[in-house]
Amino acid sequence: MTQATKYEKPVPLKTLDNHPYWDAADRHELALQKCSDCKGYIHPPGPSCPSCGSPATEWENLGSDISATVYSYITSYRPFLPGFQHDLPTVITVAALDVAPEVKIMANIIGCPAEEVEIGMPLKMTWTDITPDRALPQWTPSRSQN
Ligand SMILES: [Zn+2]
Repeated sequence: MTQATKYEKPVPLKTLDNHPYWDAADRHELALQKCSDCKGYIHPPGPSCPSCGSPATEWENLGSDISATVYSYITSYRPFLPGFQHDLPTVITVAALDVAPEVKIMANIIGCPAEEVEIGMPLKMTWTDITPDRALPQWTPSRSQN
């Protein structure tokens, strides 16, 4: 019998506004909120469109093949919350989606030494199963574009 490793980090909370984003993540897909009036993407999700103020929003499923580029990043050498102390250094990036560069999604970069991360680096979204029914979107280097 193998000992299951307990996930010690915070599990993202689903709210009325963001649950379609996390429900899609649990299926290893990306869903983005979109304004029904001006058609702009809204990320992070909210109760209304930050561009035009419309409360009419809808969700678009972008699937599992998500590419982006590093817009900005920081490397953290300290655990700011319990549970992160085993994963240092942690690279936290803001990545611009290739299909909609105005959409920036913040997540960790995994599978890449911190010193190799640079602005403009191509990424793919990947999902880490953190509990039996929850998954976390993260970024990993896109090897095919190198
Ligand atoms: Zn709008």
